[in-house]
Amino acid sequence: MRTYITVKSKERTACIDITETVQDVVRDSGITNGVCHLFVAHTTAALTINEGADPSVMRDMLVYLNKLVPFDGDYHHSEGNSAAHIKSTLVGVSENIFIEQGKLLLGTWQAVFFCEFDGPRTRKVTVTISGT
Ligand code: ZN
Repeated sequence: MRTYITVKSKERTACIDITETVQDVVRDSGITNGVCHLFVAHTTAALTINEGADPSVMRDMLVYLNKLVPFDGDYHHSEGNSAAHIKSTLVGVSENIFIEQGKLLLGTWQAVFFCEFDGPRTRKVTVTISGT
């Protein structure tokens, strides 16, 4: 089955924890063993899995991504958001998570984050669940 999650950001860059929303979609699908594929059909956003217990981890991630790829630079792209395009490619637009006994098979400290690099905006995450 396939569905979509809506994510709203309030800042230019943000990492938003969508783990519970994805888990709800998995539960509602009725699939107990399989794979949950997440995909972002945007060119200035991304998905990643990292620590969700301490919010400082994703704060640090954003601060250093923004240092690595500054907003202003020798960019030619006329839309003025090349930094966001580059961060999207660096972080990646998809994730696969196995489902076991109806739950996302994440590590104890892992959470799923939607990464906004050109916000604030409202975005869509495509969730495709396969299994039995
Ligand atoms: Zn652009």
